[in-house]
Amino acid sequence: MTLPTVAIVGRPNVGKSTIFNKIVGERIAIEEDVPGVTRDRIYGKAEWLNHTFNIIDTGGIVIDDEPFLEQIRVQAEIAIDEADCIVMVTSGRDGLTTLDEEVAKILYRSKKPVVLAVNKIDNPDMRQQIYDFYALGFGDPIPVSGTHSLGLGDLLDEVVKRFPNKNDEDQEEDTIKFSFVGRPNVGKSSLVNALLGEDRVIVSDIAGTTRDAIDTPYTYDGEKYIIIDTAGIRKKGKVYESIEKYSVLRALRAIERSDVVLVVINAEEGIIEQDKRIAGYAHEAGRGIIIVVNKWDAIEKDEKTMNEFEKMIRNEFLFLDYAPIVFVSAKTKKRVQTLLPTIKLVNENHALRVQTNVLNDVIMDAVAMNPTPTDHGTRLKIFYATQVSVKPPTFVIFVNDPELMHFSYERFLENRIRDAFGFVGTPIKLIARTRK
Ligand code: GDP
Ligand code: GDP
Repeated sequence: MTLPTVAIVGRPNVGKSTIFNKIVGERIAIEEDVPGVTRDRIYGKAEWLNHTFNIIDTGGIVIDDEPFLEQIRVQAEIAIDEADCIVMVTSGRDGLTTLDEEVAKILYRSKKPVVLAVNKIDNPDMRQQIYDFYALGFGDPIPVSGTHSLGLGDLLDEVVKRFPNKNDEDQEEDTIKFSFVGRPNVGKSSLVNALLGEDRVIVSDIAGTTRDAIDTPYTYDGEKYIIIDTAGIRKKGKVYESIEKYSVLRALRAIERSDVVLVVINAEEGIIEQDKRIAGYAHEAGRGIIIVVNKWDAIEKDEKTMNEFEKMIRNEFLFLDYAPIVFVSAKTKKRVQTLLPTIKLVNENHALRVQTNVLNDVIMDAVAMNPTPTDHGTRLKIFYATQVSVKPPTFVIFVNDPELMHFSYERFLENRIRDAFGFVGTPIKLIARTRK
């Protein structure tokens, strides 16, 4: 399911990140567990009425050494490229400024709907400040106060009205959606080309969707696949293509839409923080994951190199111990043909449902082998377990008191479940709940 995306734009200091944080709200804290993910977040998920959507704070995308006006221009262009609806933020305390007009001018050039917010209207007496902003031509300006959480509901009412119709983009259930994600130059586009065959120009044969994403349908061995664009193949050459935050953002959008995510690492460069961050998001999003080490042709190796590399990856990506690792070369095409069968396998595990009675046998055996923990004299009691969903497989374990389910015991149970059922390539979730 593809979620609509909202982008917040505006000149500096109008309150974009304040509003972003208020809208994304308490979800931020939950996602803090995965290393490197949360630091100055610019991307989040939010809900309003019965809509769930992604939201981007473009103000957080900063290109070093570019002049001020250029920064604002790039931020507005990213909003136009990525969003289904744009929220332009201004400040009622400062009134309409020439910089606001500059931002508006860039937005005029796109067909994307714009909702205009006048921020810092902290009390009703200030409401008359909004009238000047009619001049921008984006319809009724909406008074809000980020710091006081005022008017945000009215703002979101206007935003969700402008979302594209969901039915425009329904895709078949039996296709496997996957994407290559990773930082710039790891070889994502080359891998897509290697899979699709000789330098086929990806851009030319795509059915356009309402969201102008580039998806390539592909059939192999009777199985239907869709390659989700991440590489920004179409956008190559834009100034902001190589900005770290922007490439992370594109990866996030692709992760959201994929069943299986192939995290691409450049064998020549090893693993850096940004690789971990992207992988962390895929894990957090509960997608099937394969680690692809590309450019394997380019490094000197002997019979030990692959093992050593694998060890290094396992050390760096502790939270991805379930993900298979494939060593490939997009250039020579070595082992590229193993990717699709691996994707298929991971997709099956991601959607796997296990039988309740077998699951409970596994859990009870585990408990017999390693007794449940106690806390202040009370022992964790496990009554029964059941799988409540797939993609990723999610299990509810009914217990006497969820507080007693320590992380390490949960991890132990997870490992027992994995030993019994496989689940290669997919995260699984365990939720402890009080038996009613
Ligand atoms: P950004 O640069 O557009 O992301 O702006 P920030 O969110 O960083 O806010 C800039 C400044 O405006 C900060 O000092 C905020 O505390 C302040 N601010 C944000 N929203 C409001 C508001 O609704 N009322 C008032 N009075 N100040 C605000
Ligand atoms: P992207 O930014 O992740 O899409 O990366 P590209 O596919 O554009 O590749 C970046 C650079 O790495 C290009 O110069 C490619 O020719 C090169 N490259 C990609 N895959 C391989 C590979 O398997 N081996 C070698 N030696 N170079 C590669």
